[in-house]
Amino acid sequence: MKILITGGAGFIGSQLSERLLNEGNEVIVLDNYFTGQKSNIHHLMGNPNFEIIRHDVTMPFFIEVDQIYNLACPASPIHYQYNGIKTVKTSVMGAINMLGLAKRINARILQASTSEVYGDPDVHPQVESYWGNVNPIGIRSCYDEGKRVAETLFFNYHWQNEVDIKIVRIFNTYGPKMHPYDGRVVSNFIMQALEGKDITIYGDGSQTRSFQYVDDLLEGMIRMMNSKEGFTGPVNMGNPNEFTIKELAEHIIKLTGASSKLIYEPLPQDDPLQRQPDISLAKNELGWEPKIQLEDGLKKTIHYFDQLIKGGKINAYTGNR
Ligand code: NAD
Ligand code: UDP
Repeated sequence: MKILITGGAGFIGSQLSERLLNEGNEVIVLDNYFTGQKSNIHHLMGNPNFEIIRHDVTMPFFIEVDQIYNLACPASPIHYQYNGIKTVKTSVMGAINMLGLAKRINARILQASTSEVYGDPDVHPQVESYWGNVNPIGIRSCYDEGKRVAETLFFNYHWQNEVDIKIVRIFNTYGPKMHPYDGRVVSNFIMQALEGKDITIYGDGSQTRSFQYVDDLLEGMIRMMNSKEGFTGPVNMGNPNEFTIKELAEHIIKLTGASSKLIYEPLPQDDPLQRQPDISLAKNELGWEPKIQLEDGLKKTIHYFDQLIKGGKINAYTGNR
């Protein structure tokens, strides 16, 4: 199949590109390199079935493909808050442009939505039927509300124009190819531990997240993309094993053998207190559930960052910001 991936130079998109190529597909990536890196996909560039185009999804784009994975959007709070207007434009205009393309060429399109549509949830664990608790004028709203409007657009294109849509709501995902200075908790803690720095816990560390290893997500996304016609989702994708942020820090200290101290910094505004996916729908409809648990996934991720540091490759990333 011929597959378009927006945001394909980023953490998840680059891993997805590699996997879809290995499965025999032709992959075309669009990326504006805001948070993505050429180094993430450099090794794919000699492959005749791979192509990358520098393009911003807020502008229209025309191509003939069978499937579109719409991943373009900064995902780390520090990056999506850097230019909130641009973040909204990326989610909303990006969705309009990609849905318009899907409609025109009759392609199936999958949206990378997020657990952030649930905001600071007062239903726990989160089920897809829960409408969420989002502050529309908070610092996270450019991301949360942008992704919510994108879901609205997906459904309206489906109802009005019969576009074949699929929506996955992704919960915190980590693994190799995350940007080392991305600002998200797993990469921050691992980099701090490996560099012998203090580990920065925001708030008292009692807030929870459920961490999914990237390979599990890729399997789920591909199953969802190829699921039976008419099954639109949204469907949660995450690992239901929930940890406090303090527990995560302790795991990483143990696995790296670091002597880092835990230091406490203020909790950012509207930081969700708890997050855990109910994955019954994905289990029933897709026969999917995560296989890789935190300790194994962290070991692989620590190894990746350790190799980047030892290979002297970190400067390329800092220079990128
Ligand atoms: P990432 O920041 O590594 O990747 C995002 C990619 O999109 C980058 O390559 C970036 O350069 C590109 N991009 C951003 N704005 C663009 C634009 N206007 N035009 C073209 N390209 C643009 O983040 P990620 O973790 O790989 O996330 C990928 C997708 O999955 C995002 O849509 C994100 O919202 C979603 N998601 C991720 C997580 C997670 O935990 N990683 C959780 C929920 C949802
Ligand atoms: N966090 C932290 N220290 C850091 C980075 C993040 O304690 O150095 C916390 C953050 O406040 C949040 C959790 O870890 O409670 C997850 O943050 P992340 O930015 O990874 O994702 P999100 O908040 O979007 O789930």
